Amino acid sequence: MPYKDPEKERAARRTYRANHREHHNALERASAKRRRALAGPKRIGRPRLPITDEERKDRRKQSSAKQRAEHPTQIKQNHDRWRTKNYELERQRQLTTYSMQHPPKPKTTPEQRRLRRRDLARAAYAANPEHFRQKRKTRSALKRGAVMSDLSASQWNEIKAAYGYRCIYCGEQFPKNTRALHQDHLTALSRGGADTLHNIVPSCKPCNSRKYTNAAPIFVQPLLLTISPPKKRYQKHTESPASPTL
Ligand SMILES: [Zn+2]
Repeated sequence: MPYKDPEKERAARRTYRANHREHHNALERASAKRRRALAGPKRIGRPRLPITDEERKDRRKQSSAKQRAEHPTQIKQNHDRWRTKNYELERQRQLTTYSMQHPPKPKTTPEQRRLRRRDLARAAYAANPEHFRQKRKTRSALKRGAVMSDLSASQWNEIKAAYGYRCIYCGEQFPKNTRALHQDHLTALSRGGADTLHNIVPSCKPCNSRKYTNAAPIFVQPLLLTISPPKKRYQKHTESPASPTL
């Protein structure tokens, strides 16, 4: 009774075996008896304990290590001969291994790459918005003809802190995280002023607009020293125990 469907055939065999279990077992017993007869007389002595695959592997490893240690040149010669003879095969094997270890990356579409770039840019902006705001200001200052532009976001924070978050002209105080304080250039960019630490003071928007590009209405002492603290990686040297304490 040939079946086209192997599943059906298996099912039929199962049913047959279930219905003829006794007969099937008898056949199995007879075949086992035949196998034992063919295998010859039983082993004499201590029966060999079955070993696990791991143990078999270990034994093989030990024996080959022993061989290598005892016949190094012979092993090397054999190996070299095999390699020369099967150069192409070995090369193919190496290539296959490499391609398995380095599967081709799935291709991305330009749209996927665009979205990824967008997400990365958004994450970078969210991590440090002040840095990017300052970068925009730098570009704008250069566009407006500033002779130089090197104010950093952290410097601007320090300037605001140094003046107590107050407008330098009217004295109005703002909260620490304010964005209402503008960067007023003491010498306007259009008059050759630089967009740098010593030319920038905090000012509220009305005062900044009123001043426009003119000279400051009051005398202002700009910050003369660089107020940025030393960077972390330089602090190690200043804190070395060998340095004398003053
Ligand atoms: Zn003001």
